[in-house]
Amino acid sequence: MADENDILTTPDEDPDGSSGDDSRDKKERACSICRRPESKAGPLTALPGGMFVCRDCMQRSFDAFQNNLNHTDMNTLMENLTKEIGSIDLSQFGIGGRTNPQKKEKKKQEKPKKKMTMDDVLPPHKIKAALDEYVIGQDRAKKIMSVGVYNHYKRILSDSKDGVEIRKSNMLMIGPTGSGKTYMVQTLAKLLNVPLAMTDATSLTEAGYIGDDVESVVSKLLAAADNDVERAEHGIVFIDEIDKLAKKKNLNQRDVSGEAVQQGLLKLLEGSEIEVPVGASSKNMMVPMETVDTSNILFICGGAFPGLEEIIKNRLNQSAGIGFQSDLRDKYDSDPDILQKVTVEDLRTFGMIPEFLGRLPVMFSLQKLTEEMLVSILKEPRNAILKQYERLLELDGVRLVFEEDALHSIARTAMERDTGARALRAIIEEFMLDIMYEVPKDKNIGEVVITKDYIEHRGGPGILLKSQMIGVQEETV
Ligand code: ADP
Repeated sequence: MADENDILTTPDEDPDGSSGDDSRDKKERACSICRRPESKAGPLTALPGGMFVCRDCMQRSFDAFQNNLNHTDMNTLMENLTKEIGSIDLSQFGIGGRTNPQKKEKKKQEKPKKKMTMDDVLPPHKIKAALDEYVIGQDRAKKIMSVGVYNHYKRILSDSKDGVEIRKSNMLMIGPTGSGKTYMVQTLAKLLNVPLAMTDATSLTEAGYIGDDVESVVSKLLAAADNDVERAEHGIVFIDEIDKLAKKKNLNQRDVSGEAVQQGLLKLLEGSEIEVPVGASSKNMMVPMETVDTSNILFICGGAFPGLEEIIKNRLNQSAGIGFQSDLRDKYDSDPDILQKVTVEDLRTFGMIPEFLGRLPVMFSLQKLTEEMLVSILKEPRNAILKQYERLLELDGVRLVFEEDALHSIARTAMERDTGARALRAIIEEFMLDIMYEVPKDKNIGEVVITKDYIEHRGGPGILLKSQMIGVQEETV
């Protein structure tokens, strides 16, 4: 083993060459990575812990960081390094803190793993009933989703005794912006207590290009499962804005963010073993890797598919144009639920590739939210926005009342913005700000009534003082 001075001095740094002959007598130093002796590998650089690295290996390490060196190479490199480093704690140099195996083991011991069983999965009618508490309308979508999810977990949690293989039930949700796609998936994951990773298809690009590669979604899921691989393998991945991956028409250059990503997703959707970095978003030498099998991960893709309605109408009109069905033409043109009639063929026309659609066998559409539905969203779900504001003011001893026509006015304004239920919160926050600011100033206020005039900026809210309220209550008694 090299002595103290050897560690700190490389041949380059030996200005007078005084140690030259001496060092030849000693055992020749070798690169800790490629094992070539100094006479072959050239001058070695000493690293802390008695390691030496030749210039070639140093360069390769830097390249690995920059170019995402192929995995096997990187692992060999790491193995050799770890052997040499032995018991050195890399974290003291500010690198590879997470590689400390003792720490990882300790974390694993802290959480005894509970295996998911069929007892953890609710039957479809209970899943739907639980979804009903949060998601307004979308009855058909909720039903299809409940059955799909139940079948998915039946498939992965039961043994395939007789060799019958149940098909994976990945899903494709089609629905306008703000109609509840993301919200349904979030509610579902909470209900089933499984990890959920959400990603936006627009951020994905073909591996090797700027952007996240498709495997990053599995990495996110692993993070959501606290790096517990088994939990991640039973999780849900939601990929939003999937319509943005449609094949681009008349494109002369390579389509790295559209069709290529659809191709890249195929193996994930189908089920394959993916090596993902633990606790980091990119693969590099200092990050440990875990293998995640995606066969049992439920993939749900969602998108608004603008222009799809026209494609469906055209198809239906073409077949209706012949003979006695010709009177159906106008009916399709004004059908608000035209999206429910979508077929795989329509989605292919839109630009999705058939192999991709084939891996999303459970396909359903969500309705565009109507004024009535928006009003219900305001007041009915368990965590409805109105309930939240009512509770906040209740804590100040004030009753908050929304008049019915005020709610319709809010719903109409939201519909004009064309972002579905998303607009509701923004609109309410706009006019509730003053109330939330002013009301706590005056301890005499007992009730605030939100009227249509206040919403439409034609007047203020109705205010009732506590003293008046007692009078009113006594009168009504
Ligand atoms: P998108 O369909 O664009 O994914 P989101 O699910 O993100 O829409 O909806 C935005 C918000 O609107 C949700 O967080 C939720 O609060 C509300 N929302 C949308 N649709 C519904 C619905 N059907 N029932 C209850 N709330 C809804």
